[in-house]
Amino acid sequence: MSFADLKQKIEPLFGADQISLVERAYQFAEKAHAGQTRKSGEPYLVHPLFIALKLAELKMDQATIAAALLHDVVEDSGVLLSTIEAEFGSDVAFLVDGVTKLGKLKYRGIERMAESLRKMVLATAEDVRVVLIKLNDRLHNMETLKALPEEKHRRIALETLEIYAPLADRLGLGSLKARLEDLAFPYVYPEEHSWLSRNVRDAFEERSEYLKQLAPEIEKVLREEAVPIIAMDARAKHQYSLWRKLMKFDMDIAKIHDLIALRVIVPTVADCYQALGVIHAHWRPLPGKIKDYIALPKPNGYKSLHTTVFGPDGKIAEIQIRTIAMHEEAEHGIAAHWKYSQTKQTKLYHENVASKADKKEISWVKDLRDWQKDVSDSDEFLQTLKIDFFKNRIFALTPKGDAVDLPEGATALDFAYHVHSQIGNSASGARVNGKMVPLDHEISNFDVVEIITQKNKKPAADWLEFVKTSMARKHITSRLRRDAEQKRFGTKPGGLLVELRVTARDRIGLLNDLTSAIRAFRINIRDHKTETAHRSHPLIILTCAIKSSDELRKLLMKLKSVKGVEEVNYKIL
Ligand code: MN
Repeated sequence: MSFADLKQKIEPLFGADQISLVERAYQFAEKAHAGQTRKSGEPYLVHPLFIALKLAELKMDQATIAAALLHDVVEDSGVLLSTIEAEFGSDVAFLVDGVTKLGKLKYRGIERMAESLRKMVLATAEDVRVVLIKLNDRLHNMETLKALPEEKHRRIALETLEIYAPLADRLGLGSLKARLEDLAFPYVYPEEHSWLSRNVRDAFEERSEYLKQLAPEIEKVLREEAVPIIAMDARAKHQYSLWRKLMKFDMDIAKIHDLIALRVIVPTVADCYQALGVIHAHWRPLPGKIKDYIALPKPNGYKSLHTTVFGPDGKIAEIQIRTIAMHEEAEHGIAAHWKYSQTKQTKLYHENVASKADKKEISWVKDLRDWQKDVSDSDEFLQTLKIDFFKNRIFALTPKGDAVDLPEGATALDFAYHVHSQIGNSASGARVNGKMVPLDHEISNFDVVEIITQKNKKPAADWLEFVKTSMARKHITSRLRRDAEQKRFGTKPGGLLVELRVTARDRIGLLNDLTSAIRAFRINIRDHKTETAHRSHPLIILTCAIKSSDELRKLLMKLKSVKGVEEVNYKIL
């Protein structure tokens, strides 16, 4: 591996005379890591170069590739971040800093894992390029894990399985996720891994032989019906996911139909459905095994048609049909969305992210960022994160046919809150596939759910005992809190003393703006103080008498809109 390999990959992307940023980064890294070696004895430079190559394959921009080359120079060679910024600009420095900060994470039990996840997720929300560098950094560390002392193997591999692979999955990076899992698998579950290797080999060979016979027959009928084919190949299920699936099926390999699947890649969506029709006309499909992930994509964005058919001799075979664009996206996920422009790459990147933030693909990242601020307890954070974002997802449908994306185990009430908080708050029952069910009824994939609401209905405290999603929990808790507050205000006609706690960037006239915002409500301020010790922004505490919970809400909104205000909390005294 050398710079020549990287050059070969990036010249077609950026143009031969436009690669100076990457080239300078390479030379800088070469100098900074001079004389350093990896535990394997290889020159250290092999490591950043590997990551840069992977990112070039994903067609990332020059800043990302340069940052990959430089990602360890701050941590391992004592180079100052300000030097990076002066040499390579703020975009590269930002990325290097992000990766360096993530690098400080280590799996040390549940507490630390929650912290790692939180940081990774936040980094994703801020700039997904940081996480793409970090994931490929982990990939190379896993590829070379053998060189590390044995006592470190399990911890690092476990961390890979628990943190990095789920994150790659959630970002739609299918091939990276599979590779990370298969690299970690033998270290975390050595016995299971060797059992699998021993017991699957025969079945695997037999099936792959069968698909070799079937593939030309499928190709022939598709050509006869004029379905254009871009490519056809057999893909083997990766080991770790096969192992997990086997556990669900009593370790019976005969029950795993997609041990190897035949993949058919065609130009358009219409071709996908036509191909499916042609295949079904020739080979009978297995009932219940036709999956239309084009009309109903998986939550991570995966799209394809899947079917399992009885092929010649009555043996079964799984076939996956997709367009080339779907294929790219399934392999490279969020990176496949990358639109590159030579002249204004950075600007384009930000536009891209901003416009994409509205789309479903990364909306979960936004959700996470929104609510993680409320959760201070790492244990709770981890639990919610696992349940909401990494657990298997199901789709339920509204009576109008809109899909609602929920975690497995979600109830009718979770569904209600995911449609709208008002519907959740006033839910009294539900109809699932036409049948009346209670609100704690567990939803299955593709259920049609209709929520029955009642005017003046309110959330009950025991709802918290059965809802599964953080969104439902959050709405119920805040509504219960509001109701309780309303009661307290009701008992004191003169109002309640409330402490308003405002965190704001300090500026001239700040306090004045805050107090006049409050006086505009004809509310008297009884007391105020400012705390500055140990904080980056001052905390201003204003005590006032407030008459109703409604008035309090409106006041909080008003204060949040004052220039410089970052956060407003309150405490009823
Ligand atoms: Mn590294």
